[in-house]
Formats: sequence, C-alpha cells, structure tokens
Amino acid sequence: MDKESLEGGCQCGAIRYRITGDPVVVAVCHCRMCRRANAAPAVAWALFAESQVALMRGAPATYESSPEARRGFCRGCGTQISFTASYIPGLIDITVGSLDHPEAVQPVLHYWDSERLPWVRFADDLPRHAQFPPFE
Ligand SMILES: [Zn+2]
Ligand SMILES: [Zn+2]
Repeated sequence: MDKESLEGGCQCGAIRYRITGDPVVVAVCHCRMCRRANAAPAVAWALFAESQVALMRGAPATYESSPEARRGFCRGCGTQISFTASYIPGLIDITVGSLDHPEAVQPVLHYWDSERLPWVRFADDLPRHAQFPPFE
C-alpha cells in the first residue's frame, strides 16, 4: 500500500477519491448527528485539508445536517463520504469506512464522548473529549 496516497469511494463505485499526504487528525465521533447520518453506533473520521482530497469520479450529493455543516454522500448507494463545517474552514472530514484500506489510518482520540452509546467500547486507551475537541 502506498503510504503517500489513500484512495476510497462509495459502495456502488460512482464516487472515487484520492487523498495525498497525512491526515490532520483521525478520530472517532460519538455524536448523535453522525450516528444518525451513518446509521452506525460511532463514526471514524479522517480530517484533511480540502486541497489534499481529489475526486477521481463522481461527486457527493450534500445534505445540510445543521446550519454550519454539510454531509457528502453518494446519491446512488447512500454511502457517507464527507463532512465539512464552517467551524473547520478549509478542512474536510472523510469517513474512514469509505477508504479502500481503512486500516491505513489510526484514530488518536474520541470526541462527543458525552453522546456515546454506553455499549460502544473500543480503542479505550485513547483520550476522550466530551464534545468537539480543541483544534488548531
Ligand atoms: Zn455509490
Ligand atoms: Zn459527529
């Protein structure tokens, strides 16, 4: 696996992307919004500069999940691909689960732990933030 680039896409293959370089941070979000949007108990996100992410095929549809945030997904198969928000300008979160090799990145923290389902327990040695962690 090429450490210099990460590739991924949606389940049906209509959307393909390639990422260059390392993530800013990889983290597991336990918030209710991510849980609902992904229909999953928790969601792992890899955060990148928008300039690191190139669409190779297709383009995600977007859903404004709150006034400040947009979630990108495949309109064909429903796979959640991305998250962007006004409070993280110039950055884009990519779902770790949409990577071809999700094992290539490692979460370093949990956030929105205050909304975590009580039975969701993994990567328990990582730091936990009650809400969105401080970012630089
Ligand atoms: Zn698709
Ligand atoms: Zn979340």
